[in-house]
Amino acid sequence: MTSYSTFLMVWFLSINIFNNQEKNMNLKLLRFLLIILFTSTVFYAQTYKDPKANIEDRVNDLISKMTLEEKIGQMQQNTLNGIDNNVISEIKNGKVGSFLNAGDLEAKAKLQKIAVEQSRLGIPLIFGRDVIHGYKTVFPIPLGQAASWNPDLVEKGSIIAAREAAEDGIHWTFAPMVDISRDPRWGRIAESCGEDPFLASKLGAALVKGFQGNDLSSENTIAACVKHYVGYGATEGGKDYNTTLIPERELRDIYLKPFQASVKAGAATLMSAFNDLNGVPTSANSFTLKTVLRDEWNFDGFVVSDWGAVSELINHGIAKDGSEAALKAANAGVNMEMVSRHFTENLTKHIADGKVEQKWIDELVAGILRVKFRLGLFENPYTRITENLKTLSDDFKEVAKQSAIESTVLLQNEDDFLPLNDKFKKIAIIGPLANSPLDQLGTWTPDGEAKNTITPLMAIKEEFGNSIEINYCKGLEDARSLGTDYFKKAVETANKSDVVLLFVGEDYLLSGETHSRAFINLPGIQEDLIQQISKTGKPIVLVIMAGRPLTFGNITKDVKSILYAWHPGTMGGQALSDIIFGKVSPSGKLPVTFPRTIGQIPLYYNHKNTGRPPAPNQLGRTIGTPENPEGYACYYLDVDFTPAYNFGFGMSYAKFEYSNLNISSNKIKMDENLEVKITVKNTGKMEAKEIVQLYIRDIYGSVTRPIKELKAFEKINLRPGEEKEVKFTISSDDLKFHNIDMKYVAEPGDFELFVGSSSNNNDLLKTNFVIE
Ligand code: BGC
Repeated sequence: MTSYSTFLMVWFLSINIFNNQEKNMNLKLLRFLLIILFTSTVFYAQTYKDPKANIEDRVNDLISKMTLEEKIGQMQQNTLNGIDNNVISEIKNGKVGSFLNAGDLEAKAKLQKIAVEQSRLGIPLIFGRDVIHGYKTVFPIPLGQAASWNPDLVEKGSIIAAREAAEDGIHWTFAPMVDISRDPRWGRIAESCGEDPFLASKLGAALVKGFQGNDLSSENTIAACVKHYVGYGATEGGKDYNTTLIPERELRDIYLKPFQASVKAGAATLMSAFNDLNGVPTSANSFTLKTVLRDEWNFDGFVVSDWGAVSELINHGIAKDGSEAALKAANAGVNMEMVSRHFTENLTKHIADGKVEQKWIDELVAGILRVKFRLGLFENPYTRITENLKTLSDDFKEVAKQSAIESTVLLQNEDDFLPLNDKFKKIAIIGPLANSPLDQLGTWTPDGEAKNTITPLMAIKEEFGNSIEINYCKGLEDARSLGTDYFKKAVETANKSDVVLLFVGEDYLLSGETHSRAFINLPGIQEDLIQQISKTGKPIVLVIMAGRPLTFGNITKDVKSILYAWHPGTMGGQALSDIIFGKVSPSGKLPVTFPRTIGQIPLYYNHKNTGRPPAPNQLGRTIGTPENPEGYACYYLDVDFTPAYNFGFGMSYAKFEYSNLNISSNKIKMDENLEVKITVKNTGKMEAKEIVQLYIRDIYGSVTRPIKELKAFEKINLRPGEEKEVKFTISSDDLKFHNIDMKYVAEPGDFELFVGSSSNNNDLLKTNFVIE
């Protein structure tokens, strides 16, 4: 019996029991008590408000109470351009479920109060924001963090980002971005974890765990949003938003991998992307959104479309108008529409017409509510953090510094020129990125502040200003500048010093969304600046800060050492100072292949062999007019077929010797594990970290296989003279791929196994094994 019928029955009885005037007072009292009883019964029957009830029961209860309009309201995400009556009335009427960029803590609290206290069901809003590589404390750009190959460190960074963002009332970040990126022209490569599915899977999962912790409802955690689902990084020609064509096998074995790992790590949400994938844009793609994500991976959170991506279905040419766009996106499995309003405007009619099933809408809304319950928003709709961090915490800055240290890749170090230690007493610091706090933060840092940033100039002055003569000249107005006004002073600055630290690269505006480049050399006239300074004969340490791999082969001979620092974030200056002066050795390794020239793109290490692979004796072509236009192999006539720097490459101040590659057996059965051991010894003079990498080549299969695939890695620390045995276990699961029948299996046959310090064969020890 429902509480309502109980109430009616007791009411009716009360009329019969107290059927005279004298008992009027008692009657009133009883009725009053009954009303209280009724109200409280109804309240307790609101399972969705009961924090102790199971989340599925809460979701179902809430859905059973919602009107269709309120359900569609939950599917609408708006951006905030001021709080006016319209905004207030939409929240009151349950017509919006989420905001992104909803202003400061106070603004968010104001909106939330309306949702919780003045809307019919009190469903809290979920506030999203792009917390991409840190919030107030900015870490290196994601591609830089990927160069650390250190999932634990990367996780620490996202724990800090979540903590700082949660304090500002943010519940949900649009990160991590795990789009496999093989094209450095694409500006968004900066936001990615690089080109390799294994590395990106490890880092994506670490980022999710960091943001979300073990308990999404705890005060310090925020929901992750894995993006951009899927294939966005395969954009043709590296042009942002461009078409992608990815065969299903490639999609599953390369592009979906890091998404799957992030979902497995518990990612609460995903973002469907902008790109057209094989003819069906990803924000209307039921194969990726339903078949793969829901049916195969059992994802039960929600998918938000990227900014305006539902609207863009019209531009893509698969929807006649907004109404059809809403129909296609909702039916494909987009739960929430970011910014455009086609769901709000059209779904009611589609449901009435039977084009979208009511049951499906309930499922889409359930995904959104589930995440809101998991976040504990019904109990704690506002920020739960009581202890405010007014300034950047020292502990957080320390992690940001460590992250910048481990992200920096040493690409060249002639005659072991670095570290400088105390070799030089007069140092020139030159270059447009030596003291450019904002550029150093990189793309997507809406909440990071230049005033908190420590540049290399600041850090070096602070640390050595009293003991070393430091001469500074920016050399160029900025990284893109074409004016040579500062050249003369830059040369003078170099001339009066013993060594030059030259900071060049890209300003923050040259990478990130819509910031693709057709040329990926050092912008402006920075090469000229380097060459001018090199003419002084002073040794140069070149530090490159950039959002992508650049091509800079023209100037490598002009400098002694090259450190690739990406955009290193808040503490980049201090990290670089520590590296340059030898407090610590660089230990980053490239998460992406560096081409010699743009003509080689796409260039990635895990490519197929082809029928005519180039042979080692065909190495050594110079860039330009072909010296020998022959060969009949898979290469260009006018550039060497190898990259400028291989995936996994990065030097150290230490020297690492690899020996004793040992595997448990040369023949294993399909379900047996392979135990791999290798000894790594630091034969250098400095303590340092090394990233030990294991690659496998499946020599032949029912379909062609990559020439090498990363299957394991470990970052170890070794003191001078110290050696370690590093162990890996490879199971047949690690060897699976989608075979000729699109079955995910490992196939018996011959394999090569490589262990070493980069993906380059010269840096690897090799052995063979067979799966019987
Ligand atoms: C980007 C997303 C981002 C969203 C919200 C879009 O333009 O593609 O990565 O999360 O905006 O700011």
